[in-house]
Parts: sequence; C-alpha cells; structure tokens
Amino acid sequence: MKQAEVIYSVIVPMFNEEEVIEHTYDRLKQVMDQTNEPYELVFVNDGSRDRTVELISMIADFDPNVRLINFSRNFGHQIAITAGMDYATGDAVIVIDADLQDPPEVILQMIDKWKEGYEVVYGKRLKRKGETVFKKVTAKLFYRTLRSLTNVEIPVDTGDFRLIDRKVCDVLRGLKEKNRFVRGLVSWIGFRQTMVEYEREERFAGVTKYPLKKMIAFAVDGITSFSYKPLKIATYIGFTLSVTSFLYLLVVLVQKLALGGTVAGWASIVAVNLLFNGIILMLLGLIGEYIGRIYEESKNRPLYIVREVQGFEDNAKTGESERGGKQERMKEYV
Ligand code: UDP
Ligand code: MG
Repeated sequence: MKQAEVIYSVIVPMFNEEEVIEHTYDRLKQVMDQTNEPYELVFVNDGSRDRTVELISMIADFDPNVRLINFSRNFGHQIAITAGMDYATGDAVIVIDADLQDPPEVILQMIDKWKEGYEVVYGKRLKRKGETVFKKVTAKLFYRTLRSLTNVEIPVDTGDFRLIDRKVCDVLRGLKEKNRFVRGLVSWIGFRQTMVEYEREERFAGVTKYPLKKMIAFAVDGITSFSYKPLKIATYIGFTLSVTSFLYLLVVLVQKLALGGTVAGWASIVAVNLLFNGIILMLLGLIGEYIGRIYEESKNRPLYIVREVQGFEDNAKTGESERGGKQERMKEYV
C-alpha cells in the first residue's frame, strides 16, 4: 500500500522533552485536524536521555500521521530540523519547537499565507513571555550583531518557527554544509517570503535546552557561516595597531636620540606586552574558528546518524515514495 500523500509536514525537534510531548502532540493534532487535509507530524528525537523516544513511539503506534526519527545521539537542534526536512514529504513543511513556546495555532495563519502564494512564512516574535531578561537582551544583541555583520537579510527576532514550501525545502536539502544555521540559510536562498507576528509564550514545561554555552556556540555558528567580516575586522585592528606602534616608535627614537636617554619603564612595557599579546591571541583564535569550520566541512561526514525510524513503514515496503523508501534513506544518511 502506498502511503497517503500528505500536504503538510510538521517537524518537531525533541531533546529531553518527556514532560511536554503528550500535550504538544494533542495541541498540534488539534490544530492540524482543522486543516481537513492530510498531514504528518515528524518528531525527531535528538538523542534524548529521558523517555522522549518511548513516548513518541507509543504515539506513533496508534496515530498513523505520526513519524519518528530517532538519532543515534544528540546532534543538535539545527541538525534535527535538517533531518526532519530530509524525511518530510509534505507540500508545505512547518518547523516548530517542542515546548509550545510558539503557539501551534499560528500555523493556520502561516498556511493561509502559503495558500496566497508565499514560499516562506516565518514567525516574528512580538513579545517573549517568561524568558529571563538576560535571554531577551542577549537574543536581541545577537540578532542585531548578525544583521550588521552579514549581507544576508536575516529578519530580526525570528526563530526557526516557520513554514516553507516544498521547493524551498528541496533547495535547503541540497545545501550540504555542516554548520547549519537554518534560519540564515532560509533567508539566504530567497524566494517569496513573508511573516506572521505572534507572542512567544512561556515554555510549557521542562527547562530550556539552550544553556549559555550552547547559545554562544549557536551565535558563533550563525555569524561565521554567513560572514567573514570578523576576519576583516581582525585585519583592521592589526593595521591600526601597527600604525600606532610605528608612530610611538618614532617618539621613542626621538626621545633616545635627540633628548638623550630614556626612563626605564617597566610598567608600560609590561602593559603594552600584555595588551598586544592578548589581542594577537584573540585574533588567532578567531582565525582558528574559521579554520576549524573548514576542517569540519572537509571531513565530509554525514550530518547525522539515524538509529531507527517509525511511521514510514509503508514507504519502506513499497519504496514508492518520491524520496525513496526507508532502506534507501538509511543508506543515504547513515
Ligand atoms: N533541541 C534539540 N536538540 C538540542 C537542543 C534543543 O532538538 O540539542 C530542541 C528542543 O527540544 C526544542 C527546540 O530545540 O524543541 C528549542 O529548544 P528550547 O526550547 O530549549 O530553546 P529556547 O526556546 O529556550 O531557545
Ligand atoms: Mg523553547
């Protein structure tokens, strides 16, 4: 039997989300049932260490619209979204967080825009409820910095909550870079884009899966994969420092030759040394960030490894799906 064609695919990345799964599933189902069109819910388990996978699996057992992609370990939020896109078969693909911070009801508005002919509909957060001042400030700063450093128009205050057309999904799948900053890639590829505005809710349950360390890594990924301006800034800093040093050298020479003798300046020497060494090491580290990323890309490892999938069985039996059956997929991505 060939699996029914679906119009909508909803991708939900999940990392230790046992507390929210059932509720998230109910809300998503309620919303998607209102479309009266066939849909699939693609849950990607990103190496959770709790009961996430068991719960999804149970849901997938009785709801034929639910699919599970189970990673072999934690690969990260952005990779989980990418895997969802690889497996999704819908004409429109929606990405939403598992924690219901992005209200599923907004999906219906996104679908309306899609039906008007837009190929990308992203959610713009008007307000963020229940998030710490620190998170709000850093998020704001990040989006502004990103905007000033990159040439890509990444809309301010949008996350990965968005709807993309099949065409856009296929183009994204063709971009094989390992450092995946999905919202940036979506902006980069263009197409007809629009937005719907919404208020970001509090996390329904559980805690954020983006501690400060991950947030910083995410920000660095976003900037480095879309801009080499930081390297240019390094050049400018180097240049400015050289010019000032040279001028100061002249001063020192004049002092020594014309005025005769100089005062022993231990403190100033140490200060200049520390400052310059600090700057040099920092800029070396910056260059290292880029080299590390080139290294990552050149290894050509797969983006993620799938332990098992569930809910795609019909495809596997017949291999009739456009995207190939389960076995074929496993070959392709494992
Ligand atoms: N997530 C994931 N892998 C990770 C970290 C997060 O799949 O390594 C998922 C998480 O389960 C959630 C989404 O990414 O569905 C966003 O995470 P979270 O809500 O914790 O981030 P925040 O809203 O606090 O920025
Ligand atoms: Mg969240």
